[in-house]
Amino acid sequence: MARSEDLRITYTSTSADMAEVHRLFDTVVADVRAQAGGVHPLFIAGEPVESDLPRLVNTSPIDTDVVLGEFQSATAEHVDMAVAAAQAARRAWGNRPWQERVAILREAAMGVRRRKFEIAAVMALEVGKNRLESLGDAEESADLIDYYCQQMEDANGFVQTMNAITPIETNTDVLRPYGVFACIAPFNFPAALSFGMSSAALIAGNTIVYKPATDAPWTGLLVYEVYRDAGVPPGVFNFLTGRGANIGDNLTFHPDVDGIVFTGSKPVGMRIFHGVSSNWIKPCLLELGGKNPAIIMDSADLDAAAEGVYKSAWGLQNQKCSACSRVYVHRDVADAFVEKLLARTRDIVIGDPTEQHVYLGPVINAKAVKTWEGCVARAREEGEILLGGDRPSDPALARGHYVNPTVVKAPLDSDLFMDEFFVPFLAIGVVDSLDQALTEANRAEYGLTAGIFSGKPEEVQHFFDEIESGVAYANKRSGATTGAWPGAQPFTGWKGSGGSGKGGCGPYYVAQFMREQCRTVIVEPAK
Ligand code: NAP
Repeated sequence: MARSEDLRITYTSTSADMAEVHRLFDTVVADVRAQAGGVHPLFIAGEPVESDLPRLVNTSPIDTDVVLGEFQSATAEHVDMAVAAAQAARRAWGNRPWQERVAILREAAMGVRRRKFEIAAVMALEVGKNRLESLGDAEESADLIDYYCQQMEDANGFVQTMNAITPIETNTDVLRPYGVFACIAPFNFPAALSFGMSSAALIAGNTIVYKPATDAPWTGLLVYEVYRDAGVPPGVFNFLTGRGANIGDNLTFHPDVDGIVFTGSKPVGMRIFHGVSSNWIKPCLLELGGKNPAIIMDSADLDAAAEGVYKSAWGLQNQKCSACSRVYVHRDVADAFVEKLLARTRDIVIGDPTEQHVYLGPVINAKAVKTWEGCVARAREEGEILLGGDRPSDPALARGHYVNPTVVKAPLDSDLFMDEFFVPFLAIGVVDSLDQALTEANRAEYGLTAGIFSGKPEEVQHFFDEIESGVAYANKRSGATTGAWPGAQPFTGWKGSGGSGKGGCGPYYVAQFMREQCRTVIVEPAK
């Protein structure tokens, strides 16, 4: 039987034997289903801790009768305990030679690869991600850890000898950890974002209080286990489950938390940003929402454009921060493009995303179904529904959060082009020129990803020069606005999509978890 770590799958490529991948996934998903229903503690300073509050019951969006597990509802006291544990561990971890931290984190990357199918199966059941996307998420987790380890190695631990102004001095510049980071993750890339944010902070020498999304605590628990098994010492990575609305402020505004790394929605990120620096300015690394446009010009290869938009709009049910949720198509090719997109979308296979041939799974929860219903109602008033707008009638899907992918044509001034919905809903607007498309694209408060399909290099260059987004793709058939990878596509949100201007997957990421110290030593000549 092939080993998990030998079957490599990214979001857009694989060299693996796919028959073997599917066989292994089927076996592992059955094992994981058999483990469902467990009761799981918090882990603080390496010890299991239970809460007196009613537990959070984690059900599958595929079938809400399936209880995947029960997780603790942490209280403010648990947050205090976890922050204290992280504070107690921070000096030993931060002062450890960086090579030792890197060795432990590289072992964690191997641990992810060994447990890749299990991590993928859990997240498929927990968040409704299809099997290839789930495997890609797990693979990316391992690559993120390794890429951030490499950043530390390439920078020699961020220690540099500086110029000497006088002959009696030596100056050394070092980047040092801040201390304790709160790490708060969203549901949609529950492994890759959790591992990505936390591994960079750990490699830099910080300790962590980690809170996964309430819709993805099981994947979060696996993140904890991988670090523990790789040799991350007790207290360095603490695992808390609980609703952000209840304990979020206790964690992010805690006086002994030295920095925040958060990926999630803009409203929550803004709340954290405005509240975190009450006594002094603390590092606050935020990766937020998106409203990602694809621009289709009259010179485009329309088959590539339709395929690229299809993949970015319907992959993970449009619940990627980079999902394509709006299209600006040139009037001369609008009908032809829409016809191709609708033809592909009509053939989409909706169902249990752990099954091999299913592309579109459920949305994450009942609230997301309501959001989608609200979009549909608005579209009926403001535009024209071209496809979808209803829920699947298959009784086998009745207990899951399933909705049909919905395509609407809307006037350009509709807010359907501006608001992030995070459900399978795509708004299409017709434009007369590239400049008009760019103006419309840049009108949104978000600036995460964007794509263009054009046969003219000068149009592509103009798009790169003018689009206000941190990630820009041209003619990407494998995903018009999606598909970043560590070391290949840094993932930086501009405007309302992010805070620091330097993104995950990119070359400047690890350094953001460190602060500079200049060390000057004077050696007076002997008298
Ligand atoms: P979310 O509702 O903002 O939740 C994200 C995390 O924040 C969850 O762990 C949540 O806990 C927690 N939280 C909620 N309220 C909080 C508070 N007051 N203080 C501190 N933490 C709090 O986002 P989501 O629905 O999980 O994820 C979707 C969003 O993330 C979208 O906007 C998407 O675009 C964005 N995203 C961005 C990127 C990127 O790289 N830019 C990547 C992925 C996702 P609970 O689960 O308990 O509510």
